[in-house]
Amino acid sequence: MVIVLIFIFSILVASFYNVCIHRMIINQSVVFPSSYCPSCHHPLKPLDLIPIFSYIFLLGRCRYCKGRISLRYFMVEIITPILAIFLYGIYGVSWQFIGYFVLASLLIITSFIDIEQQIIPNKIIGYGLILGILFSLTGITVGLFDAVLGFLVGAGSLFLIALISLQILGKEGMGGGDIKLLGVIGLFLGWKMTLLTLLLSIYIGGIFSILVLLFKIKKRGDYIPFGPFISLASIITILWGKDIVAWYITSFL
Ligand SMILES: [Zn+2]
Repeated sequence: MVIVLIFIFSILVASFYNVCIHRMIINQSVVFPSSYCPSCHHPLKPLDLIPIFSYIFLLGRCRYCKGRISLRYFMVEIITPILAIFLYGIYGVSWQFIGYFVLASLLIITSFIDIEQQIIPNKIIGYGLILGILFSLTGITVGLFDAVLGFLVGAGSLFLIALISLQILGKEGMGGGDIKLLGVIGLFLGWKMTLLTLLLSIYIGGIFSILVLLFKIKKRGDYIPFGPFISLASIITILWGKDIVAWYITSFL
């Protein structure tokens, strides 16, 4: 029963995240104006706004202008409830569930904006900083000391990587947004799990880059946003971080 409620709730907030993403991309207020088709600007009726189903039944097209609607809408509506249910499976109904669902939500919004715009909005970083500190002060996520260490380890390590790549390669290997993002994640996860997130993001990003080069989807020197890899790594850490660390210790140490 609870799982059904979580499913419905997360699908509803996913629609709101889609609105946030779209409006941050075109720089509008999040609340006004009401929903409309992104291509013909026709106002959307309730029937057009049923999450997941509207997209499937209308085959990803607008009912009014038949313009293509970005697959991003569908992805966000699918990924958000899946993550909510995984988090529920691990944390149950708890404050921790809420804390990590908030972080996962910020990461979903950030990733889709980063993929399309190659930017991580400072607005989201700001929300992340405030909520991360609030959750650590109330003991929902990690203690305040661990949270501050996590911030320093997260932002500091990527800052170092950026400095080194600037010195050796003569170009920015890491954007300012990525540095701030891993700092925010550190606030929620504490320093140990932030290190794990960093390692996982480098592995996942590395494997992805090799694959897209091998299959000639991208050329050498093409820009690949790193934010989505940090986000994915962080979500893997939230869900299975402790298991990964335990497995590593028993296997290699
Ligand atoms: Zn339209």
